[in-house]
Amino acid sequence: MGAELGKYKSVVSARSTDKELLKHAQDGGIVTSLFAYALEEGIIDGAIVAASKEFAAKNPSKVMLDNSNFDMIEPWRPIPAIVNTKAELLAAAGTKYNISPNVALLKEATRAFGLDKIGIVGTPCQMQAVRKAQLYPIGFRDVGASIALAVGIFCMENFPYQSILQLVEDHAAMKLESVKKMEIGKGKFWVYGKRGQVVQLPLKVTHKYEQPGCHVCLDYVANLGDISTGSVGSPDGWSTVFVRSKIGDSVWAKAMAAGVFETQPIEKVKPGLELVTKLANEKITKNKATLEARKTFGVGKALRNPYI
Ligand code: SF4
Repeated sequence: MGAELGKYKSVVSARSTDKELLKHAQDGGIVTSLFAYALEEGIIDGAIVAASKEFAAKNPSKVMLDNSNFDMIEPWRPIPAIVNTKAELLAAAGTKYNISPNVALLKEATRAFGLDKIGIVGTPCQMQAVRKAQLYPIGFRDVGASIALAVGIFCMENFPYQSILQLVEDHAAMKLESVKKMEIGKGKFWVYGKRGQVVQLPLKVTHKYEQPGCHVCLDYVANLGDISTGSVGSPDGWSTVFVRSKIGDSVWAKAMAAGVFETQPIEKVKPGLELVTKLANEKITKNKATLEARKTFGVGKALRNPYI
């Protein structure tokens, strides 16, 4: 496969062997299981994750917010939180399709939260921020060496909160409070209600609501994570997992030996890497064109290109 999937040591289709955990997970429960295992084994002493309003209200010491403001937080707005136990990880599981500034907690994790070995989950752009903070630690003194496990999730695009509100409440005609799960897959945006209703929106409806900054993003499968994972390529209930760095390889091998995951060779599952590669290529090609267009956007002037 080409550069669109980044560098990796191995790739499999996997899911957690913890049946209870799978009930809370978006797909194969990879991020939750991996962090739960890493916490138990002392590989990390805390993980930065995207939690919910309910989690923040119950665990005010785990988030960086003014405690009096919890009533102001809307449903499905992710709140970066530091979790230290499996129960807390479970309470924070599931994808929230809008921006969660997880990297904003990175420095504080090593300061007020006192972590020495941080786990962090995030989108490909957040993995880039983590690596940049390690290599060019402007404002991140002593943080880089504390990052013990960075797990990236595949990302085609993200949405501002206002967009999710409009997509769910206007287009799907559901109240955000009554939504159980959201999912982008099979060319549709799916909204699952708590009472069993399912609404699907074609992606052509969602495009205009995308975060504009995502249109210059050239990474689909979190190339810079120690491990990266997402649903695309694997059957429902399973996840595709790329094991990338030495750290990722060592943690994954130990977790496998401890029976945390069951796996299938990616070549044996449908749709497999072919679809992952196709989508990665589509994203990169489209966004490269946006970058190209920025060169001649102004009259005799280019818009800034962050890659040069
Ligand atoms: S598309 Fe890129 S920039 Fe947008 S959230 Fe995903 S990884 Fe970040």
